[in-house]
Amino acid sequence: MPKVNGTLFGYYCDECEERTFLESPAYTSEIYCPFCGNQTLAMDSDDLRLLEEAMQE
Ligand SMILES: [Zn+2]
Repeated sequence: MPKVNGTLFGYYCDECEERTFLESPAYTSEIYCPFCGNQTLAMDSDDLRLLEEAMQE
């Protein structure tokens, strides 16, 4: 996985409507919501685009 310096990747939890921010992106199956423990967090679409751009470089 590429690392985008200075960028926090946001994951949104549908369960409790809280956002989790990580310094490095990870597969959603490995990310737990710190608020409710939900494992199915979705990456923000803006962050997903950043990640895709980083992988193309
Ligand atoms: Zn949650």
